Amino acid sequence: MFESLSDKLDSAFKNLKGQGRITELNVASTVKEIRRALVDADVNYKIAKDFTDSIKEKATGEKVINSISPGQLMVKIVKDELTELMGGSEAELDLSGNPAIILIAGLQGSGKTTFSGKLANYIKTKKGKSPLLVAADIYRPAAIEQLKILGEQINVEVYSEPENKDAVAIVQNAIKEAKSKNKNVVIIDTAGRLAIDEVMMTEVANIKNAVSPKEILFVVDSMTGQDAVNTAAAFNQRLDYSGVVLTKLDGDTRGGAAISIKSTVNKPIKFVSSGEKMDTLDVFYPERMAQRILG
Ligand code: GDP
Repeated sequence: MFESLSDKLDSAFKNLKGQGRITELNVASTVKEIRRALVDADVNYKIAKDFTDSIKEKATGEKVINSISPGQLMVKIVKDELTELMGGSEAELDLSGNPAIILIAGLQGSGKTTFSGKLANYIKTKKGKSPLLVAADIYRPAAIEQLKILGEQINVEVYSEPENKDAVAIVQNAIKEAKSKNKNVVIIDTAGRLAIDEVMMTEVANIKNAVSPKEILFVVDSMTGQDAVNTAAAFNQRLDYSGVVLTKLDGDTRGGAAISIKSTVNKPIKFVSSGEKMDTLDVFYPERMAQRILG
């Protein structure tokens, strides 16, 4: 599918080649191709249409300098616009507070626990801080075990209370523990469900209200297409999160979800994650993602 995205853009740009001026007529057919290509890459139709309308305005009638072909100019315009659409520049992670509190939320299977481990590793190795991971999943003992295994791999302590069924109390106790052990960042891996449900949302919202995290990161599988956008909207409505994490970008996806989610919830994408190794977490750079989407 993604080969065809670049192919489509390529052929669209080739249509413009050799013409000294980008006219309304040839831009119209080119933007149609771009729109189709974006929709194929999982960008929501309305968002793709708004995007290509703005491209059309920018490109129509723009003079082409001798050294630049219309195709290249078009690529530049599209890339710049895609970059803007995804936030322009990278978003900071707020690590203020002692401890700084980061709440991780998302559906089961989205890659929440894996990301929590990667984030702890990133904060430890790249930010020079001392994180504590908290397993706040009161339903699945396996989730606690999984986080412990990751914690061992990266040499980060994991706080859990397997017998306690009160997620808010576990988190509050974990924060006390962090203070007593001089840990300056607390990363809370919360329970997820296969689909959005009221119990899960209320539980995460209760944790949020009890400990006022500076960062609430919503984790979403980038391969889930339009579902990713709907889930992002539902979580945002309930949690008003501070950032999005796109996982599983190593898979067969070009990243169209990044555009749809950013345009729908207007929250910055802060990290992208690919693979299961603990050192494969990347800060989200809109320009790099624009390049990836363009192919
Ligand atoms: P959680 O239920 O949201 O905590 O999700 P997990 O962290 O347990 O991840 C679910 C599955 O996806 C596991 O098998 C992970 O190994 C896998 N996984 C997580 N993140 C990634 C990723 O970035 N790329 C790939 N390929 N697999 C991932």
